[in-house]
Amino acid sequence: MSLRPTVDFLLYQWLDAEKLQARERFADHSRETFDAVLDTSERIAREKYAPFNRVVDTEEPRTETEPDGTLRVVLPQATHEARRAYAESGLLSAAQDYDIGGMQLPYTVEAAANSFFAAASISIGSNLLTSGNANLLMVHGTDLQKQVFALNEFNGRWSGTMCLSEPQAGSSLSDVATRAVPDGANFENDPLGPRYRLKGNKMWISSGDHELTENIVHLVLAKIPGPDGKLVPGTKGISLFIVPKKLVDTEGQLTGVRNDVALAGLNHKLGWRGTTNTLLNFGEGKYPVDGQAGAVG
Ligand SMILES: Cc1cc2nc3c(=O)[nH]c(=O)nc-3n(C[C@H](O)[C@H](O)[C@H](O)COP(=O)(O)OP(=O)(O)OC[C@H]3O[C@@H](n4cnc5c(N)ncnc54)[C@H](O)[C@@H]3O)c2cc1C
Repeated sequence: MSLRPTVDFLLYQWLDAEKLQARERFADHSRETFDAVLDTSERIAREKYAPFNRVVDTEEPRTETEPDGTLRVVLPQATHEARRAYAESGLLSAAQDYDIGGMQLPYTVEAAANSFFAAASISIGSNLLTSGNANLLMVHGTDLQKQVFALNEFNGRWSGTMCLSEPQAGSSLSDVATRAVPDGANFENDPLGPRYRLKGNKMWISSGDHELTENIVHLVLAKIPGPDGKLVPGTKGISLFIVPKKLVDTEGQLTGVRNDVALAGLNHKLGWRGTTNTLLNFGEGKYPVDGQAGAVG
Protein backbone atom coordinates (compact mmCIF):
# COMPACT_ATOMS: atom_id res chain seq x y z
CA MET A 1 0.00 0.00 0.00
CA SER A 2 1.28 3.48 -0.81
CA LEU A 3 2.10 5.80 2.05
CA ARG A 4 1.64 8.87 -0.11
CA PRO A 5 -2.12 9.48 0.32
CA THR A 6 -1.67 9.37 4.10
CA VAL A 7 1.30 11.77 4.00
CA ASP A 8 -0.64 14.13 1.69
CA PHE A 9 -3.66 14.03 3.99
CA LEU A 10 -1.61 14.71 7.13
CA LEU A 11 0.48 17.43 5.53
CA TYR A 12 -2.11 19.34 3.54
CA GLN A 13 -5.49 18.59 5.13
CA TRP A 14 -4.58 18.27 8.76
CA LEU A 15 -1.44 20.42 9.15
CA ASP A 16 -2.35 22.88 6.38
CA ALA A 17 1.31 23.01 5.33
CA GLU A 18 0.57 25.18 2.30
CA LYS A 19 -0.04 28.09 4.69
CA LEU A 20 3.67 28.06 5.52
CA GLN A 21 4.49 29.75 2.22
CA ALA A 22 3.01 32.95 3.67
CA ARG A 23 6.12 33.17 5.85
CA GLU A 24 9.03 35.13 4.42
CA ARG A 25 11.48 32.25 4.90
CA PHE A 26 9.36 29.95 2.74
CA ALA A 27 8.17 32.54 0.20
CA ASP A 28 9.73 30.66 -2.76
CA HIS A 29 7.89 27.48 -1.82
CA SER A 30 4.50 26.20 -2.85
CA ARG A 31 2.57 22.96 -2.88
CA GLU A 32 4.46 22.17 -6.10
CA THR A 33 7.91 22.43 -4.52
CA PHE A 34 6.74 20.46 -1.48
CA ASP A 35 5.32 17.77 -3.76
CA ALA A 36 8.56 17.64 -5.78
CA VAL A 37 10.52 16.83 -2.59
CA LEU A 38 7.97 14.20 -1.60
CA ASP A 39 8.08 12.68 -5.11
CA THR A 40 11.89 12.42 -5.01
CA SER A 41 11.89 10.94 -1.51
CA GLU A 42 9.21 8.42 -2.40
CA ARG A 43 11.13 7.37 -5.53
CA ILE A 44 14.50 6.94 -3.76
CA ALA A 45 12.84 5.07 -0.89
CA ARG A 46 11.04 2.79 -3.33
CA GLU A 47 14.08 2.12 -5.53
CA LYS A 48 17.05 2.19 -3.15
CA TYR A 49 15.64 1.33 0.28
CA ALA A 50 12.55 -0.90 0.21
CA PRO A 51 13.98 -3.69 -2.01
CA PHE A 52 16.94 -4.07 0.38
CA ASN A 53 15.14 -4.03 3.71
CA ARG A 54 15.36 -7.82 3.88
CA VAL A 55 18.95 -7.91 2.57
CA VAL A 56 20.26 -5.69 5.37
CA ASP A 57 18.50 -7.90 7.90
CA THR A 58 20.09 -11.09 6.59
CA GLU A 59 23.53 -9.61 5.81
CA GLU A 60 24.27 -8.25 9.25
CA PRO A 61 27.12 -5.69 9.52
CA ARG A 62 30.45 -7.45 10.06
CA THR A 63 34.10 -6.52 10.39
CA GLU A 64 37.28 -7.52 8.60
CA THR A 65 40.69 -7.12 10.15
CA GLU A 66 43.26 -5.09 8.20
CA PRO A 67 46.95 -6.08 8.29
CA ASP A 68 47.60 -3.29 10.85
CA GLY A 69 44.90 -4.72 13.15
CA THR A 70 42.28 -2.08 12.26
CA LEU A 71 38.71 -3.39 12.19
CA ARG A 72 36.97 -2.36 8.96
CA VAL A 73 33.19 -2.49 8.75
CA VAL A 74 31.59 -4.33 5.84
CA LEU A 75 28.01 -3.44 4.87
CA PRO A 76 25.98 -4.66 1.88
CA GLN A 77 26.56 -2.68 -1.33
CA ALA A 78 22.90 -1.64 -1.26
CA THR A 79 23.52 0.36 1.93
CA HIS A 80 26.26 2.35 0.19
CA GLU A 81 23.99 3.06 -2.77
CA ALA A 82 21.02 4.03 -0.59
CA ARG A 83 23.17 6.42 1.42
CA ARG A 84 24.63 7.99 -1.73
CA ALA A 85 21.18 8.52 -3.27
CA TYR A 86 19.88 10.08 -0.06
CA ALA A 87 22.86 12.46 0.25
CA GLU A 88 22.65 13.45 -3.44
CA SER A 89 18.95 14.28 -3.09
CA GLY A 90 19.89 17.20 -0.79
CA LEU A 91 17.61 15.96 1.98
CA LEU A 92 20.35 16.15 4.61
CA SER A 93 20.26 19.94 4.34
CA ALA A 94 16.67 20.40 3.13
CA ALA A 95 15.64 22.74 5.95
CA GLN A 96 18.87 24.77 5.92
CA ASP A 97 19.40 28.26 4.48
CA TYR A 98 19.92 28.69 0.73
CA ASP A 99 23.32 30.30 1.30
CA ILE A 100 24.75 27.10 2.79
CA GLY A 101 23.27 24.92 0.08
CA GLY A 102 19.94 24.14 1.73
CA MET A 103 16.43 24.35 0.28
CA GLN A 104 14.87 26.41 3.13
CA LEU A 105 12.17 23.77 3.24
CA PRO A 106 9.84 23.86 6.27
CA TYR A 107 10.95 21.22 8.76
CA THR A 108 7.40 19.78 8.66
CA VAL A 109 7.88 18.92 4.98
CA GLU A 110 11.40 17.56 5.56
CA ALA A 111 10.03 15.29 8.28
CA ALA A 112 7.20 14.15 6.01
CA ALA A 113 9.76 13.37 3.27
CA ASN A 114 11.79 11.29 5.72
CA SER A 115 8.75 9.17 6.57
CA PHE A 116 9.16 7.37 3.22
CA PHE A 117 12.62 6.16 4.24
CA ALA A 118 11.40 5.13 7.67
CA ALA A 119 8.67 3.06 6.02
CA ALA A 120 10.93 1.59 3.30
CA SER A 121 13.75 0.52 5.60
CA ILE A 122 14.02 2.25 8.93
CA SER A 123 17.45 0.82 9.66
CA ILE A 124 19.11 1.92 6.41
CA GLY A 125 17.47 5.30 6.84
CA SER A 126 19.60 6.37 9.77
CA ASN A 127 20.67 9.67 8.17
CA LEU A 128 18.72 11.62 10.77
CA LEU A 129 21.64 11.19 13.17
CA THR A 130 23.81 13.15 10.76
CA SER A 131 21.24 15.93 10.32
CA GLY A 132 20.75 16.10 14.10
CA ASN A 133 24.49 16.28 14.71
CA ALA A 134 24.91 19.06 12.15
CA ASN A 135 21.84 20.95 13.43
CA LEU A 136 23.36 20.94 16.91
CA LEU A 137 26.60 22.38 15.55
CA MET A 138 24.66 25.10 13.67
CA VAL A 139 23.14 26.20 17.00
CA HIS A 140 26.10 25.80 19.35
CA GLY A 141 29.24 25.71 17.16
CA THR A 142 31.61 28.52 16.26
CA ASP A 143 31.51 29.86 12.69
CA LEU A 144 34.50 27.71 11.74
CA GLN A 145 33.07 24.59 13.41
CA LYS A 146 29.87 25.11 11.40
CA GLN A 147 31.82 25.63 8.19
CA VAL A 148 34.16 22.67 8.65
CA PHE A 149 31.99 20.09 10.37
CA ALA A 150 28.27 20.88 9.94
CA LEU A 151 28.45 21.89 6.29
CA ASN A 152 30.39 18.77 5.34
CA GLU A 153 27.71 16.69 7.05
CA PHE A 154 24.88 18.53 5.29
CA ASN A 155 26.54 18.08 1.88
CA GLY A 156 26.84 14.33 2.44
CA ARG A 157 30.65 14.10 2.52
CA TRP A 158 30.76 13.09 6.19
CA SER A 159 28.31 11.51 8.60
CA GLY A 160 27.68 12.11 12.29
CA THR A 161 27.06 10.25 15.52
CA MET A 162 26.05 11.01 19.08
CA CYS A 163 28.27 9.38 21.70
CA LEU A 164 26.49 9.63 25.03
CA SER A 165 26.16 6.12 26.46
CA GLU A 166 28.99 4.19 28.08
CA PRO A 167 29.13 0.58 29.28
CA GLN A 168 28.24 1.80 32.80
CA ALA A 169 26.19 4.90 31.88
CA GLY A 170 22.86 4.76 30.03
CA SER A 171 19.97 6.94 31.20
CA SER A 172 22.14 8.10 34.08
CA LEU A 173 24.45 10.45 32.21
CA SER A 174 25.85 11.69 35.53
CA ASP A 175 27.84 8.42 35.47
CA VAL A 176 29.73 9.44 32.31
CA ALA A 177 33.41 8.64 32.92
CA THR A 178 35.01 9.71 29.64
CA ARG A 179 37.61 12.37 30.51
CA ALA A 180 38.80 15.32 28.47
CA VAL A 181 42.00 17.13 29.43
CA PRO A 182 43.53 20.21 27.76
CA ASP A 183 45.94 19.24 24.97
CA GLY A 184 49.10 21.11 25.92
CA ALA A 185 49.74 24.68 27.02
CA ASN A 186 48.41 26.13 23.76
CA PHE A 187 45.19 24.16 23.86
CA GLU A 188 42.98 27.25 23.71
CA ASN A 189 44.52 28.55 20.49
CA ASP A 190 43.37 25.93 18.01
CA PRO A 191 41.24 27.70 15.36
CA LEU A 192 38.73 24.82 15.44
CA GLY A 193 38.12 25.41 19.16
CA PRO A 194 39.93 24.67 22.44
CA ARG A 195 41.71 21.37 21.90
CA TYR A 196 41.30 18.51 24.37
CA ARG A 197 42.43 14.88 24.59
CA LEU A 198 39.68 12.40 25.36
CA LYS A 199 39.89 8.97 26.92
CA GLY A 200 36.95 6.65 27.54
CA ASN A 201 34.61 4.04 26.10
CA LYS A 202 31.32 4.70 24.34
CA MET A 203 28.79 1.90 24.05
CA TRP A 204 25.81 1.36 21.70
CA ILE A 205 26.93 4.05 19.28
CA SER A 206 24.77 3.94 16.17
CA SER A 207 26.71 4.32 12.90
CA GLY A 208 29.86 4.67 15.02
CA ASP A 209 32.02 3.18 12.28
CA HIS A 210 31.55 2.30 8.61
CA GLU A 211 33.00 3.04 5.19
CA LEU A 212 29.94 4.89 3.87
CA THR A 213 31.50 8.33 4.16
CA GLU A 214 34.97 9.84 3.98
CA ASN A 215 34.87 10.80 7.66
CA ILE A 216 32.68 10.46 10.75
CA VAL A 217 32.06 13.38 13.10
CA HIS A 218 31.50 12.08 16.63
CA LEU A 219 29.84 14.37 19.16
CA VAL A 220 31.07 13.04 22.47
CA LEU A 221 29.95 13.71 26.04
CA ALA A 222 32.94 13.82 28.37
CA LYS A 223 33.92 15.41 31.66
CA ILE A 224 36.72 17.90 32.19
CA PRO A 225 38.36 17.00 35.53
CA GLY A 226 38.49 19.61 38.30
CA PRO A 227 41.77 21.17 39.55
CA ASP A 228 42.40 18.08 41.75
CA GLY A 229 42.31 15.87 38.63
CA LYS A 230 39.07 14.20 39.75
CA LEU A 231 35.81 14.15 37.82
CA VAL A 232 33.09 16.33 39.32
CA PRO A 233 30.21 14.09 40.49
CA GLY A 234 26.78 14.42 38.85
CA THR A 235 26.02 16.08 35.56
CA LYS A 236 28.24 19.09 36.35
CA GLY A 237 31.36 19.31 34.25
CA ILE A 238 29.93 17.40 31.30
CA SER A 239 30.87 19.01 28.00
CA LEU A 240 30.33 18.08 24.39
CA PHE A 241 33.31 17.57 22.10
CA ILE A 242 33.65 17.32 18.33
CA VAL A 243 35.86 14.27 17.73
CA PRO A 244 36.35 13.40 14.05
CA LYS A 245 37.42 9.87 13.15
CA LYS A 246 40.05 11.42 10.85
CA LEU A 247 41.61 14.77 11.71
CA VAL A 248 40.79 17.71 9.45
CA ASP A 249 42.20 21.19 8.82
CA THR A 250 40.44 24.55 8.84
CA GLU A 251 39.53 24.11 5.15
CA GLY A 252 37.69 20.88 5.90
CA GLN A 253 40.35 18.72 4.24
CA LEU A 254 41.57 15.48 5.82
CA THR A 255 45.07 15.98 7.22
CA GLY A 256 45.92 12.30 6.70
CA VAL A 257 46.18 11.73 10.47
CA ARG A 258 43.85 9.14 11.95
CA ASN A 259 42.37 10.26 15.29
CA ASP A 260 42.71 7.98 18.30
CA VAL A 261 39.19 6.54 17.98
CA ALA A 262 39.12 2.76 17.58
CA LEU A 263 36.26 0.44 16.79
CA ALA A 264 36.35 -2.23 19.50
CA GLY A 265 33.50 -4.24 17.98
CA LEU A 266 29.97 -4.34 16.62
CA ASN A 267 26.95 -5.13 18.75
CA HIS A 268 24.74 -7.90 17.41
CA LYS A 269 21.12 -6.84 17.08
CA LEU A 270 17.88 -8.79 16.66
CA GLY A 271 16.57 -6.28 14.14
CA TRP A 272 17.34 -2.85 12.74
CA ARG A 273 20.55 -4.20 11.24
CA GLY A 274 20.95 -1.81 8.31
CA THR A 275 23.24 0.34 10.40
CA THR A 276 26.10 -0.55 12.71
CA ASN A 277 25.93 -0.38 16.47
CA THR A 278 29.37 -0.02 17.96
CA LEU A 279 31.64 0.00 20.96
CA LEU A 280 34.19 2.77 20.43
CA ASN A 281 37.40 3.21 22.38
CA PHE A 282 38.55 6.81 22.59
CA GLY A 283 42.15 7.63 23.42
CA GLU A 284 43.51 4.20 24.22
CA GLY A 285 46.56 4.74 22.03
CA LYS A 286 45.62 2.54 19.06
CA TYR A 287 46.13 5.54 16.74
CA PRO A 288 48.41 7.95 18.63
CA VAL A 289 48.25 11.58 17.47
CA ASP A 290 51.62 13.38 17.61
CA GLY A 291 53.02 10.30 19.32
CA GLN A 292 50.53 10.55 22.17
CA ALA A 293 47.49 8.50 23.19
CA GLY A 294 44.25 10.49 23.47
CA ALA A 295 41.51 11.27 20.97
CA VAL A 296 41.68 14.89 19.82
CA GLY A 297 38.45 16.82 20.33
C1 LIG B 1 19.78 0.06 19.03
C2 LIG B 1 20.36 1.06 19.99
C3 LIG B 1 21.03 2.17 19.48
C4 LIG B 1 21.62 3.09 20.35
N1 LIG B 1 22.30 4.15 19.82
C5 LIG B 1 22.93 5.00 20.67
C6 LIG B 1 23.72 6.07 20.15
O1 LIG B 1 23.85 6.26 18.94
N2 LIG B 1 24.37 6.87 21.02
C7 LIG B 1 24.26 6.71 22.38
O2 LIG B 1 24.86 7.48 23.10
N3 LIG B 1 23.51 5.70 22.90
C8 LIG B 1 22.85 4.86 22.08
N4 LIG B 1 22.09 3.84 22.60
C9 LIG B 1 22.02 3.69 24.04
C10 LIG B 1 20.70 4.22 24.61
O3 LIG B 1 20.68 5.60 24.53
C11 LIG B 1 20.62 3.70 26.05
O4 LIG B 1 20.24 2.36 25.90
C12 LIG B 1 19.64 4.47 26.89
O5 LIG B 1 20.25 5.68 27.27
C13 LIG B 1 19.19 3.69 28.11
O6 LIG B 1 20.28 3.29 28.87
P1 LIG B 1 20.45 1.78 29.34
O7 LIG B 1 20.25 0.88 28.17
O8 LIG B 1 21.75 1.69 30.10
O9 LIG B 1 19.25 1.53 30.32
P2 LIG B 1 19.14 1.98 31.83
O10 LIG B 1 19.51 3.41 31.94
O11 LIG B 1 19.88 1.01 32.69
O12 LIG B 1 17.60 1.81 32.06
C14 LIG B 1 17.00 0.53 32.27
C15 LIG B 1 15.58 0.71 32.72
O13 LIG B 1 15.49 1.51 33.90
C16 LIG B 1 14.67 2.64 33.68
N5 LIG B 1 15.25 3.81 34.36
C17 LIG B 1 16.51 4.27 34.21
N6 LIG B 1 16.71 5.34 35.01
C18 LIG B 1 15.55 5.55 35.67
C19 LIG B 1 15.15 6.51 36.64
N7 LIG B 1 15.97 7.45 37.11
N8 LIG B 1 13.87 6.44 37.09
C20 LIG B 1 13.02 5.48 36.63
N9 LIG B 1 13.37 4.53 35.72
C21 LIG B 1 14.61 4.58 35.25
C22 LIG B 1 14.64 2.85 32.18
O14 LIG B 1 13.47 3.51 31.76
C23 LIG B 1 14.71 1.42 31.68
O15 LIG B 1 13.46 0.84 31.65
C24 LIG B 1 21.49 2.92 21.75
C25 LIG B 1 20.79 1.82 22.25
C26 LIG B 1 20.23 0.90 21.39
C27 LIG B 1 19.49 -0.27 21.97
